[in-house]
Amino acid sequence: MTPSRDQQVAMPSNTKEIEPNRITVPYVTAWSAEQDRSGELICRARGGIGYADETVMDRDSRGVLWIRAASRPGEGRPEFGEVHSLRQRRAMRRLLCQVCGGPADQTAAGTLWLLPDFREDWPGWPNAMANAEPPVCPRCVEVSVRLCPKLRRGAAVIRARECPLVGVRGTLFVRGDDGPVRAANDVFAFGHPRIGWVQAFSLVRQLGDCTLIPPSELAGCAP
Ligand SMILES: [Zn+2]
Repeated sequence: MTPSRDQQVAMPSNTKEIEPNRITVPYVTAWSAEQDRSGELICRARGGIGYADETVMDRDSRGVLWIRAASRPGEGRPEFGEVHSLRQRRAMRRLLCQVCGGPADQTAAGTLWLLPDFREDWPGWPNAMANAEPPVCPRCVEVSVRLCPKLRRGAAVIRARECPLVGVRGTLFVRGDDGPVRAANDVFAFGHPRIGWVQAFSLVRQLGDCTLIPPSELAGCAP
């Protein structure tokens, strides 16, 4: 979500408001005070990467290594277009709205998602799509379409009955002479053979059993 700075909007609850221009700052947006505190990466003797001063907090229950991000929302300035790893992860895991941080909309027809419209990409899009964008609530659909440039070029409102957690987006490292060397940024399934060499940044769900909601019904998403 990357709203432009010159628009004034109604504030959904839980989002941060900064003066003087009343800007909506989405829940998952990073703030300038939230620096990467990952520290030194090392190659582990048994393979894979880790932190030189690693603690149990640095890995999830699957053993995936996560980037260390300071959590200081509201401090400094919002870094529109930059996602905060911890909040993205929390929103994705708990299915929270990426804009207001409240519960995302879930009905019998599925969880509500708002995505750049790439329905021409493959038949049945976005079924099977690996998606790092957390869902939304009905109240935040309209404001997101208005403020996010990539959505203004075409937004698709989707309900997905299935959205299992399948992997992470992150950086793959390889062994170098002086330690780990960045090789690629990509999405990696939890079962990927090189997942031990990945520093994860965001959690990924795969969308399935999706229904595209026609734009004419967009208004129906508003409360
Ligand atoms: Zn919301």
